[in-house]
Amino acid sequence: MHQLKTGTLYIVPTPIGNLLDITYRGLEILKNVDLIVAENIQHTNILLQKFNITNHLVLMNKDNENQKSDNLIKKLQAGVSIALVSNAGTPVINDPGFILVKKCYFFNIKVIPLPGACAAITALSASGLANNRFCYEGFLPSKKTARCNLLLSLKNETRTIIFYESKYRILQSMEDIIDQIDKNRYMVIAREITKKWESIHRDKAHLMLKWLKEDKCRYKGELVIIIEGFKKILKHNVSKKVWDTFCLLRDVLSLKKSVTLTAKIHQVSKNNLYQYAIKKDSDNT
Ligand code: SAM
Repeated sequence: MHQLKTGTLYIVPTPIGNLLDITYRGLEILKNVDLIVAENIQHTNILLQKFNITNHLVLMNKDNENQKSDNLIKKLQAGVSIALVSNAGTPVINDPGFILVKKCYFFNIKVIPLPGACAAITALSASGLANNRFCYEGFLPSKKTARCNLLLSLKNETRTIIFYESKYRILQSMEDIIDQIDKNRYMVIAREITKKWESIHRDKAHLMLKWLKEDKCRYKGELVIIIEGFKKILKHNVSKKVWDTFCLLRDVLSLKKSVTLTAKIHQVSKNNLYQYAIKKDSDNT
């Protein structure tokens, strides 16, 4: 591997359940940096022991990050190389590290991120919901009013929406999703991804709640909620005759040309047909 850079902060993702999901480069960096900053020492030690790595560990969690990061900045300025890890997944993403990274920029210290496990992205990839545009909202607020307000503000969000959730609040959050967003909105709950009891379930919101309530095991462990984005209902639908013509042309022509020709042939609105085709396309992604 390349020589590690001195005075650099490496952001190293760790597995979200299956220890084999660490990368080779991640292991090399954990082995060779001067210091590993961990959210929980015992937790990180399990990973290090699995791969026979011994290194110096320092604790930094959300309670002590502000104060600890000042000390770490001094070390980085003195040329120490540091790897930042959290308990699972990508550090900083709903995990400690944000304050430290911000301070690195303030003091002109190099930050090098490694790619790796992230529960939100892993769940999204298997959700079968549109993934060309999505928004990540972290954990839903624990207070009902704040949660409902946030959900209501996302009712017309057209991008796919991703939340982290705990088993203690999932049923209540599901009730609120149904009330504030739409009981018929499609969604996915990804549970215990990469672990023994991994499950990915997709259904309309009200049927999802019913399914969860049938068996407590269905929401045991760690959860990601993914909600389909709002779909605008088109004022005019497209008749089967028009759609068949469009599909025939689309096999050999660009989207724009197929829309223009179909609209001419059938004397229908070009814009409406275009919007309809785009929507159909995103429904299939
Ligand atoms: N930084 C992490 C990441 O990159 O995914 C997220 C940390 S956040 C404190 C932990 C939350 O991520 C859990 O409460 C759960 O919502 C989600 N999560 C983590 N591991 C998961 C897994 N294996 N399956 C499903 N969700 C998971």
